[in-house]
Amino acid sequence: MLTPIEKILFILLALVSAGFTFHGFKTIIDTVRKGRPAPELKNIPASLLKAGVTVLFQRTIFKARKALSAVHLGLFFGLITYAFVNLFDVLEGLIPNFDLTYSGKHLAPPAWTIPLINIYSLVSDVMSMFLLIAITIFLVRRFIVKDKALTYRENVLLNPKVKAGGQAKDSLIVGVFVIMHVTAHVLSQAYRLTEGADPFMPFASFLNSIFGASETGMHVAWWVSIGWVMFIIPYLSRSKHTHFFMAPINLGLAKQNPRGQLDPAIPLKVIDGRKYDPGAKVITDLAWKRILDAYACVQCNRCQDVCPANFYQRPLSPSALEVNKRYLLKEATFGSHPDLLLAPLTETVISPEAVWSCTTCYACVRVCPVGNEPMADIVDIRRRMLIDGFEIDSGVQTALQSLATNGNWMGKGKRLRGRWAKELEFPVKNATEEPVEVLWFVGDTASFDERVIPNTKMVARIFHQAGLDFGILYQNESNAGNDVRRVGEEGLFEQLVEQNMAAFGKAQFQRIVTTDPHSFNTLKNEYPQFGGKFEVKHYTVTLLKLFEEGKLTVKNKLSHYKVTFHDPCYLGRYNGGFTAPRKLLELLGVEFHEMPRNCENSFCCGAGGGQIWMGKVAPGERPAENRIKEALSTFEKHPSDKKQLFIVTCPKDMVMYSDAVKTTGNEGKIEVRDIIQLVAEAVGVEEVSPIVG
Ligand code: SF4
Ligand code: SF4
Repeated sequence: MLTPIEKILFILLALVSAGFTFHGFKTIIDTVRKGRPAPELKNIPASLLKAGVTVLFQRTIFKARKALSAVHLGLFFGLITYAFVNLFDVLEGLIPNFDLTYSGKHLAPPAWTIPLINIYSLVSDVMSMFLLIAITIFLVRRFIVKDKALTYRENVLLNPKVKAGGQAKDSLIVGVFVIMHVTAHVLSQAYRLTEGADPFMPFASFLNSIFGASETGMHVAWWVSIGWVMFIIPYLSRSKHTHFFMAPINLGLAKQNPRGQLDPAIPLKVIDGRKYDPGAKVITDLAWKRILDAYACVQCNRCQDVCPANFYQRPLSPSALEVNKRYLLKEATFGSHPDLLLAPLTETVISPEAVWSCTTCYACVRVCPVGNEPMADIVDIRRRMLIDGFEIDSGVQTALQSLATNGNWMGKGKRLRGRWAKELEFPVKNATEEPVEVLWFVGDTASFDERVIPNTKMVARIFHQAGLDFGILYQNESNAGNDVRRVGEEGLFEQLVEQNMAAFGKAQFQRIVTTDPHSFNTLKNEYPQFGGKFEVKHYTVTLLKLFEEGKLTVKNKLSHYKVTFHDPCYLGRYNGGFTAPRKLLELLGVEFHEMPRNCENSFCCGAGGGQIWMGKVAPGERPAENRIKEALSTFEKHPSDKKQLFIVTCPKDMVMYSDAVKTTGNEGKIEVRDIIQLVAEAVGVEEVSPIVG
C-alpha cells in the first residue's frame, strides 16, 4: 500500500522510535537497579506467569470500584487487540496486496485462514468502537465530572508538577492519542472498502457509507494511525502510562513473604560490600522493588480511598507517595535534576506529619491492583527519621522509653504484668516454671488496662472451665514488638524479641495463643526471622476448637443480641482470620449483621502503627467513630428491639471503640463487647461485667 518513499520514511521513523523507547526503558531499569536489595524472590518465572494471567483477566482491579473496573477491563482488552491491529496495519502498509478486508480476498489466503481473518476483522472493528467509548468515559470522568477520587487533599505534599496538573496532561495526551489512533485506523479500513460494506466490519462499513473509498484518505489515515504510534511508544516510557508495561512485571515480582512480615531495616543481602544505614532517607535507600512500584503505579488512588489516615483528614495519601516518587524519578533521570536522587524523601515525596499518620493497616497494599507497598516505604522512612533524630510525638517517645525499660508501653512495672491472674479463684500456671500445653501470650493492654482486665480474666476462666492446660509468662513476658517495629524502632524491636525469646526458651509449651492480634502477627510472621518458629493461634481459633471438641458448650443461646463484628487489621487483613470469630458468633446464636466494610475490606480502628501512643489527637472524625456510625447504620437496616452490640476481638479495639461510642454520643444505642464476654454468657461462666469507662 505504501509508496517506496513512504516505506523508507516509515522505517526511519520506526528506528528513531525504537531508539527513544530503548533509551526510556533502559533508564528505568538502571534507576530501579540503584535501589537496595529486596528480600529474595523464589520461582520468579512462575510468579511472572501467574501475574500475566492475573493481568490478563484484570483480577486485581476488581477489589474496588467495580463498575469502573469493568470499563477498564474492556479498555485493556481493546488495547491488547490493538497490538495485533497495529501489527496487521504495518503489514498492510509494507506488503503489497496485504489486505484483510472482504475476508482477505485480495490476499488470496489459504481457505483455512479465512474464518480467522473474519474473526479478526469483526473483533478489531467492534473493539475499536468499544475503545472509543471506554476512553471517552475515562476522559469525561477526569475532565468534565472531575471525579474527586482522582484528587488529593490540600494538606498532602505533592510534587509541583503534579500540583500543576501533570497527571491530567498525561491522561489528556494518551486519551487524545487513543481516540485519534483508533479513529484513524477505522477510517483507513473504511477507505479501503472499494466494494461497499464488509459484513465483518460494521463500524468501518458505516464510515465507508459516509466517506466512501479513497486511496489518498487511506494513506493519510494510515499515517495518522501508525505514525502516532511511533511517537507515543517512546512517550509512554516517560509518562504515567509506563504502567502498561511495568504493572505486570511489578505484580510478578511482588512481595512473597507473609503480609505481616516487614522487610529488615538493613538488607540481608549485601551487594559489592555496600554499607547500608537502616531505613530510607533518599529514594535509592528504598529496595529496588519499591522503586519499581513508582513506575507500576496506575495512579488510580484506590489506596487513598481506603486509607484511614486520609479519611481522618491527615496529610497522608499512599497514592500521592507513589506519584511523588514517580515524578521525582522522572525529573532526576529524564529531566535536569539528577540531584533529586539525593533529596530527602520527607521533603519530596511525603511530609513528616504524613509519615507519622500511618496506622500500618495494610489496606493500601491489599487494594493496590499492581502490588505496590506504600506502607513499607513509610516504615522505612520512619526507621531513618528515628536514627536521624527527627522530633517525634511526645506520646510515642514516652511509650518507647517505657518499652525499653519496662517491656510494656503503659509505664507499669514488669512485676505487675501477671497481677490480674493472682486475683482469680484458681491458679494460673507460670509457663517458665512448669510445662504447659498452651502458652498464653497476654499482651500489654490485656495485662495492664483496667478497662480490659475483666475480659482477660474471662478468657482465663473459660480456658480453665474447658480444661485447657495453659500458662502465662508473668513478668518474663515483654511487649511482642509489633507496633514498635512499625513505628520504626528496629533496635528496640530486636531487644523485645530477644527478651521474649529468652522467656520462651525457659518455658515448655506446644503452642502459643494470643489475645492481641498485633502480638499474634509478629509472633507468627516475624519471630521466625529471629529463629522463633512456633505454632501461634489467636484466641478466637482456640475458643472455636474448644467448642468443636465439646469442651465448651452453649447453655444459653444469645438470640436477644443483634451484633456486628469488626475485623482487626492484624487478625483479618494481615492473617486471614475471618472465619473463627464469625463461626463463634453463629454458635452463640446471636443475630449477626455484616458491616459493608468487612473481612479484607475492614476499616482500621486507627490505633495501629503506634497511633494509640500518640499524645496529640488531630481534629476531625476519627476512624473508630466512623466505624461506630457504620455499625449503627447497618443495624438501622434491620430494626428490632434487640440489644445492639459491636463485637471486637482485640484488646485495643475494646478501648478504641468504647471511647468512640462515647465521643459520638451513642451510649445506650450500641455497646462494645469483646467476643469473650458473649462466650462467657453463653457457656454460663460469669455474668457480663460492663466495661468501666
Ligand atoms: S497502611 Fe493504612 S494508614 Fe498506612 S498508608 Fe496504607 S492505608 Fe493509609
Ligand atoms: S499505589 Fe496502587 S492503588 Fe495506589 S494509586 Fe498506585 S496503583 Fe493505585
